[in-house]
Amino acid sequence: MVSADGSICIRNAHLFDPSQKIDSVGDVLIRDGLIGKIGGKLAHDGDQDSIIEADGKYLFPSFCDPHVHFRTPGQTEKEDIESGSRAALAGGFTCVIQMPNTNPAVDRPEIVKDLTRDEPLELRVMGAITVGTDTRVLTDLDSLFEAGAVAFTDDGQPVIEPVFMKAALRSGQENGIPVASHAENPTIGLSGIIRGGIIAESLDLPGWNAQRETSMIERDCDLAGSIGGHVHFCHVSVEQSLDVIRQAKADGVNITAEVTPHHLALTVDIVPDLTTYAKMNPPLGFEEDRLALIEGFRDGTIDCIATDHAPHTIEEKSKDLLKAPFGVIGLETSFGVCYTELIKNGNLPLSRLIDGMSIKPREIFHLERIGLFEGSRADLVLVDLDREWVVDPEEFESKARNSSFLNRNLFGKVLWTMYKGKIAWELND
Ligand SMILES: [Zn+2]
Repeated sequence: MVSADGSICIRNAHLFDPSQKIDSVGDVLIRDGLIGKIGGKLAHDGDQDSIIEADGKYLFPSFCDPHVHFRTPGQTEKEDIESGSRAALAGGFTCVIQMPNTNPAVDRPEIVKDLTRDEPLELRVMGAITVGTDTRVLTDLDSLFEAGAVAFTDDGQPVIEPVFMKAALRSGQENGIPVASHAENPTIGLSGIIRGGIIAESLDLPGWNAQRETSMIERDCDLAGSIGGHVHFCHVSVEQSLDVIRQAKADGVNITAEVTPHHLALTVDIVPDLTTYAKMNPPLGFEEDRLALIEGFRDGTIDCIATDHAPHTIEEKSKDLLKAPFGVIGLETSFGVCYTELIKNGNLPLSRLIDGMSIKPREIFHLERIGLFEGSRADLVLVDLDREWVVDPEEFESKARNSSFLNRNLFGKVLWTMYKGKIAWELND
């Protein structure tokens, strides 16, 4: 597919990149893995081999997911770095950030180095704040940064001790990287299985109290406000949390936030139908939370989308709601769910979604900037926005099947994903 001079031309694509204010049909010329030229008609007829026909489909800067669990090392029966990478590419992502709650945890420089890779996509990792992410002993944060960690977090667990959070904020500030907060205050209410309310009562399950999240977000906003540093809030799920984030941002505190596709699309009402495939932490909220999250994403209180891709085996998810592990997968359905829910059925502009899936995650974690501009690494995704498809677990590249969206009809199908100028994943049909 490469011409004699090493160039590839993507012909007749709907070029769309809000960071470049591009929304028009044209061609993209790629040379040596980079975008060489972008604009009107660039394809020349002599080089048919080097032309990729886009047929007017949408071409976006590829997506970046700042929150995935690839289970390497230690739990590779659920997922591994290879299967997780394929799932990411199938979802249109060429960059993911892995969470450190593996076994062993990413609490040593050697593990950071092992999980930081440039093939088959840009794989990055956060370093643990406490040894084993078990909240007791601080890691050597600076050495994790030096090994390549792009942020610090104990995700999966909150950082209960303020003194550890302060240490992470100080090291993060010195090294210029964020601290990602899994905001959950264990001193408020029960840990809970699903959001507390009528559904939890009817299923006889311990309910999760929304204040667990909001009060920890308050604490971390206060810490970032008083000692500095950048806090990034993972998977925000509660309406009241948004008010806290909005206020802290208005006060000039350096914070950013993410939301998952499942919290944008689903509520606790779906739990009786989906059972353990709707069990995740934080749990699905009420309709008022969902609407507030959409509004928060629209107005920029929430900066970006993150899947919190959390694979488990079918056996583990076949247990009852009390015993099954928390978490759902999301990489291969993220764009379809968000596009269908926010744009097709909602009234958000497409530009906000591409900003939140492609541009903002890379900005927040100081990753290489990509986009539809000359000189950018050619990391691109071609999507058929009009194509309706059904989420079929047999088609997943992930080892896992624990999606909340199985058998759903979605719009917006990834046709291929290009990484460094090469098509790294292509839809078979
Ligand atoms: Zn988390």
